[in-house]
Amino acid sequence: MATTERDYYELLGVSRDASEAEIKKAFRGLARELHPDVSDAPDAQERFREVVEAYEVLSKSETRELYDRYGHAGLRSGGFQPGHFDLGSLSDLFAAFFGDDLLGGRGGGRTRGADLAAAIEIDLVDAARGVKREVPFEVAVPCSRCGGDGAEPGSEIVTCPRCGGAGRLQHVSRSVFGEFVRTQACPTCGGSGRTVEKPCTVCSGAGRILEERRLDVEIPPGIHDGQRIRLTGEGHAGTLGARAGDVYVQVHVRPDPRFVREANDIFSNVDLTMTEAALGTTLAVETLDGEEELELAPGTQPGQIVVLRGRGMPVLQGFGRGDHRILVNVVVPRHLTEEQRRLLAEFESHSHEGTYKAEEGLFEKLKSMFLG
Ligand SMILES: [Zn+2]
Ligand SMILES: [Zn+2]
Repeated sequence: MATTERDYYELLGVSRDASEAEIKKAFRGLARELHPDVSDAPDAQERFREVVEAYEVLSKSETRELYDRYGHAGLRSGGFQPGHFDLGSLSDLFAAFFGDDLLGGRGGGRTRGADLAAAIEIDLVDAARGVKREVPFEVAVPCSRCGGDGAEPGSEIVTCPRCGGAGRLQHVSRSVFGEFVRTQACPTCGGSGRTVEKPCTVCSGAGRILEERRLDVEIPPGIHDGQRIRLTGEGHAGTLGARAGDVYVQVHVRPDPRFVREANDIFSNVDLTMTEAALGTTLAVETLDGEEELELAPGTQPGQIVVLRGRGMPVLQGFGRGDHRILVNVVVPRHLTEEQRRLLAEFESHSHEGTYKAEEGLFEKLKSMFLG
């Protein structure tokens, strides 16, 4: 890699007495403009390297002093080798300035760990109360033998010779349509820009190993089926110390045969016999909070809905609860004995219109007022 003989201050567009902050700012702007991921200009990569080199020299007081005094020759005699920065430090700059995003999370040595998904299933009643559950998942963690760099202890890590540490290769092809530049991750180093002399025997050079992990997850009351809980930083380890990914725990709420849930409301049915409905009764019904005595007035009608206010599902991360609505179903006898048939017939002979007449609602009252 040819080292530039251009003036470093000129390259960054700063004066010779520029402060550290000014140099940083200038580099930040130029890097944004020239990074091969961003710029399509054919000389962008070359210019980018020059700018990085200039920054590398001017951002450190020792090399800057050397350069100020003796110029490029001073740096060379001082052992500075431009173009040989290991890409770790280059992408560290980017991670520090722009987050990993500019490098697309691929090209740099430092890459944030991947997110991972786990799933658990809980009962509706637990979803109502909130519950703590242990969630198992497999996570990539830094290998303890190599400390995450993938190299067998004692062996060297070198800048990838194929991509020169960039982690990516550009293929330029010319055709009648023009010039195409295709960028791909370097197959030799897998995009890290570094290769190891001898891969770590435990992780085979990956720097990370899979580990079974269990975490207690607090499931908040009111969670809905399919919702995810994020466990920040508990996912796969990043490379070269970059931050770990997140774990997304998908919560499946098992349907409860006793209830139907709709948003925060709960629906259920209760069966009354014809006589219970007519005479009124007290019976036990299932609720989210357990069995409950329900009083039903004489003359309860099929299709009537009894509302237990505030007895539905809790509002997730909010206040209060939905309602529990109980639909009354009245069952009519299907198989009568002779005696029962006789009694019902007798009952019917004692009935008249008033026996079945509903209490007048507001609408009926208005109607009879107008229609007489
Ligand atoms: Zn290892
Ligand atoms: Zn490479």
